[in-house]
Amino acid sequence: MATQRCWAEVWNGSTWYPCSRKGKNLEGGKWWCTQHTPSFVKAKTKTTYAALKQRLAARERAEEATARTQRQNERRLALYPQLVEALRKLVSQCESMGRASHTNAVIEAANAALAAANRAEKGDA
Ligand SMILES: [Zn+2]
Repeated sequence: MATQRCWAEVWNGSTWYPCSRKGKNLEGGKWWCTQHTPSFVKAKTKTTYAALKQRLAARERAEEATARTQRQNERRLALYPQLVEALRKLVSQCESMGRASHTNAVIEAANAALAAANRAEKGDA
């Protein structure tokens, strides 16, 4: 009994017109093509909704992760002047006490960090 036309009407952007496909499924006393069978439409809508909901949740998780990273970066940035100042004092104190009391590697590492901080402040890093 697949000689009936699908009962659905389709919007083409300006007007509604009858679906041109053959009705293959009988539901609610009417024939429907595979695309427009109400139970199929309902199932597909449910699947599409579930997938959309998953994508939305994933997007929200990604946005939360980005916001967390941004807040962490802001907290780090707020500490930057304090850390640079502490490093300057440390290097200064080490140098005044003489290098013998500290390894050269520690002072060199601290100086390299200070140099990087200076470049970063000038926008060169
Ligand atoms: Zn149809």
